[in-house]
Amino acid sequence: MRVIGTIFIVKDRHQYFTIMKNKYAIIVVDMLNDFVSGSIAHPRIKHIIEPIKELCDKARAAGVPVIYANDSHTPEVDKEFKVWGPHAVEGTWGAEVIDELKPQKGDYIIPKKTYSGFFETSMERVLRELEVNTVIITGWQADCCCRHTSADAFFRGFKIIVPKETTDTLTDEAYLGGLDYIKNIYGGKICSVKSLKF
Ligand SMILES: [Zn+2]
Repeated sequence: MRVIGTIFIVKDRHQYFTIMKNKYAIIVVDMLNDFVSGSIAHPRIKHIIEPIKELCDKARAAGVPVIYANDSHTPEVDKEFKVWGPHAVEGTWGAEVIDELKPQKGDYIIPKKTYSGFFETSMERVLRELEVNTVIITGWQADCCCRHTSADAFFRGFKIIVPKETTDTLTDEAYLGGLDYIKNIYGGKICSVKSLKF
């Protein structure tokens, strides 16, 4: 048997088995003041706060890393403002994580300039250094930043889990569409916070 990180390759007379132990990280997308009570606030974000908190607390207690992927926009440069209007400007209150989900000691904060938490950020390097193979994606919005982050996770070979009560978006239809897309196109597993055991 060879042991390579968390991958165990077991050989017997008849076949090879590859058993990969799951190593998780939580990714919390855009739970920032501007999305909850600031410039582009939406009422549907409020009910995902408590489930994300419950999940992050459970993760921290089990030693599972919590990584925040936060919009941190440069107004003169970032094209997103043409689509959404100004939001989460770097260095401002609007770009800070909401008080209810304040990052704790040992968490990671990764600023991003557009929808995906991976695009031109240190996300992949951090996940590789932590030997993570499965990302649990939470936050706002299911059909935009969570979906784009899922795409980049999939392209890089990470398994994806989305606890359904930890994300939402502007309408029911868009929410269900976002989850379906992550499930059908990226092989994401849609589950509940309660069902996750670390
Ligand atoms: Zn943005």
